[in-house]
Amino acid sequence: MSIEHITIEIPADTPGCSYRLSYYHFKPDLPDMIGHAPKIFLQAGLHADEQPGTLILHYLLALLDEAEKLGQLQAEFIIMPMVNPIGMAQIQNHHHSGRFDMSTGLNFNRAWPDLALTIINEKPEILDQLQADEQENKKIIIDAISEWIDQQTAITAIEKLRFQIIKQVIKCDVVLDLHCDIQATNHIYIVPQLMPEYQDLADWMGSEVTLTAENSGGGSFDEVWPRLWIDLQRLVPNKPLPSPVLSATLEYRGLIDVEDALNKKDAKNLMGFFIGRGFVNKELEGAPASMPVAVPFDATQIIKAEIAGLISYHVKLGARVQEGDLIANILLLDGENAFRQKMPIYAGTSGIVFSLMLQKYIWKGAMVAKIAGNTSLASRKGVLLEA
Ligand SMILES: [Zn+2]
Repeated sequence: MSIEHITIEIPADTPGCSYRLSYYHFKPDLPDMIGHAPKIFLQAGLHADEQPGTLILHYLLALLDEAEKLGQLQAEFIIMPMVNPIGMAQIQNHHHSGRFDMSTGLNFNRAWPDLALTIINEKPEILDQLQADEQENKKIIIDAISEWIDQQTAITAIEKLRFQIIKQVIKCDVVLDLHCDIQATNHIYIVPQLMPEYQDLADWMGSEVTLTAENSGGGSFDEVWPRLWIDLQRLVPNKPLPSPVLSATLEYRGLIDVEDALNKKDAKNLMGFFIGRGFVNKELEGAPASMPVAVPFDATQIIKAEIAGLISYHVKLGARVQEGDLIANILLLDGENAFRQKMPIYAGTSGIVFSLMLQKYIWKGAMVAKIAGNTSLASRKGVLLEA
């Protein structure tokens, strides 16, 4: 057994600066029964201004240390509590901006490579090399992707960072990406093929809303890993390929929900999931409550402001609303009725209000609220995620 603390130096795009990616790798001594011990990857802070995940992984590290001492780990764990040092450095005028790369405007959680497409474009002969054995095929594909990564020449810091992460994740069986919303209840983004198989993840997390989309259109991190297998299987339906790996974006409430007691409990619940799945050999302390089943992400209404103004909400987080219910009012700041008139905003679907804004001054196109319904909405096509 070993616990490695790995630090990788990433030169910045400008002279005189560099970043450090620092993470932990728990490697238990396990019999090599299935080709390799299961590998579990967790990261936090890909959107560098979303901090609850970092504190949750701090507490998870302590739980993993304890389990390791007692010889209970049945899987490898790779833990990156601060996966985006580039975003952590983006302080301007006393304000931290961690969602978009300031150099390029790229959302740190978009435009991750489409791995199936990459393999087909770069190494099309791979498909003919596939065998009748699932594990053999898994190895062929993963080796090909690892080889492709090694052949790439990363120029910028963000490219270097991404290749370091992909190199680790491509070999993993479980990939959990910890984020948070602005002001929200716990929720999950996951591909539909993984549900309801992993309802236990939603239960342990206490996910009020589990949203499924196979391809939400932006190349978000969590979709890359299962889609590799989903897309390849469609291309070669006659060859046995592994089922998609478990990968999900776990949204731990909102920006301000960084609290010791709360996040310690979140870590304990993640551990409960790992114990339940046999990745940690330990007695379970109780069982989680059953959370709602997954719903399609295109059934979520993202209400956007059609006018600038000051918003006052008429609903609380977690409220169950009916289509037509009053969600908020926007006080007009412009025009003939400025400062006198409010514009009401109504729910466009029935469901649970799971995300609201923190700031009260909003402008045209700004997000006002997200309502998770059950029925796909005609207006929700193409790119489902926000920028
Ligand atoms: Zn995020």
